[in-house]
Amino acid sequence: MKNDPKKPIYNVVYIFIGLFALAMGYFAYFIVFRSNDIINSTYNKRQYVLAERVIRGEIRSADGETLAKTMVEEDGSEIREYPYGDLFAHVVGRSTMGRSGLEESENIRLLTSNINPIEQMYYDLTGVKSPGDHIITTLNTQLQQTAYEALGNYRGAVVVMEPSTGKILAMVSKPSYDPNTIDEDWEKLVEDEEEESPLLNRAAQGLYPPGSTFKILTALAYMRQNPSYESYEYDCDGSIEENGMVIHDYSRKGHGKIDLQLSLAKSCNTSFASIGRSLDLDQFHALTEDFLFNKYLPVTMASGKSSFPLQKANSSKKEAMQTAIGQGRTLITPLHNAMLVSTIANGGAMMRPYVVDRVENEDGGKVKTFTPQLYSKPMTAMEADYIAEMMRKVVTDGSATKLKDMEVEVAGKTGSAEHGKEKAHSWFIGYAPFDNPEIAVSIVVESVGTGSEYAVPIARKIFDAYFN
Ligand SMILES: [Zn+2]
Repeated sequence: MKNDPKKPIYNVVYIFIGLFALAMGYFAYFIVFRSNDIINSTYNKRQYVLAERVIRGEIRSADGETLAKTMVEEDGSEIREYPYGDLFAHVVGRSTMGRSGLEESENIRLLTSNINPIEQMYYDLTGVKSPGDHIITTLNTQLQQTAYEALGNYRGAVVVMEPSTGKILAMVSKPSYDPNTIDEDWEKLVEDEEEESPLLNRAAQGLYPPGSTFKILTALAYMRQNPSYESYEYDCDGSIEENGMVIHDYSRKGHGKIDLQLSLAKSCNTSFASIGRSLDLDQFHALTEDFLFNKYLPVTMASGKSSFPLQKANSSKKEAMQTAIGQGRTLITPLHNAMLVSTIANGGAMMRPYVVDRVENEDGGKVKTFTPQLYSKPMTAMEADYIAEMMRKVVTDGSATKLKDMEVEVAGKTGSAEHGKEKAHSWFIGYAPFDNPEIAVSIVVESVGTGSEYAVPIARKIFDAYFN
């Protein structure tokens, strides 16, 4: 018997028409039933509706490691697992006990499924939950691990950023907590909150006096207000007095005759206090606001607002001198300081920091990709280059010579921020390679002592891990 040659084609057509009808039916169903309760819901109602239909997606590192995933038990109950324990606790966050980190900011994306419509149809018709989309971050597991271990048992924070894009490669806050056991540990964690604040993401929310890292902006203010800044000269004898207040250098011998670049390299307090006394404070104030002081940072994560209250109308000469060396009432977050140093490394262009690189569906298909975004240009390329040179001298001739013998050329600025009776907070902000910056770091170690002694060695370990 001879087959009708047209028959297989008809079969294909019938299957096609069948699928098409099913799909149309599904879309009608979706529009009538599904979309209404999803699209027209409040945020809270929407996430519950989604959670009933979707298994929360994974959060992954840039190098493909799983940072958070949902395991489904036989009885259908779901457990959120964090394979790296407390290593990524603050940046990845937690999904229970007050959602935080990416678990909070990406909540709806993790509970949205963008698998293909045919598969979606299967899940909807069988009543099985569909797999949520995955968040692929910019975080680098090795750098995160290195920063975490380098901070040791100290309290503090580390941010590692790519200056040319604003990608956050690592974000550590200590002390940390294990999000796997957050429910059973909750009472203890809340108890510790007053003393140690383990739940606080210090990297994005911790507000610290910037100490001498702030001299970078004081130097820029001086450059703007004094076109002849290259001939600046100060004769330092180790201290400076104003109306009964004395500001000392860390080393009380004095630095002798120094120019602006050496003032920064040696972190000379008296030279910068003298500069602070001479500045137009309203212009200084405006400059710091261009660098996002007194403003919220352009980020999706919960972050603190750095403050610079100094103004002509409300401040004395004494306070201007304190402020110029990073003391006074100025406060900054480690993330903000990472943005400042990245702006210098990036030739004066400030990039918007980000942690989510892309969203993928269960099959690895791209749902959304995030690209680097220029936020603003608060300084010229010439200003950035001049300050970069000064920061290179900090490493070759100044307070960060512990980085001088490294194969990669580092530029940076140390800080020892005093705060009451305790030891100073130890700061370092910097980047490498000097000629073609690839990564920038912002490090603060709480209440330990000088920047050169505590924060600089941590920077060294991070640069080592990245470049070797
Ligand atoms: Zn000095």
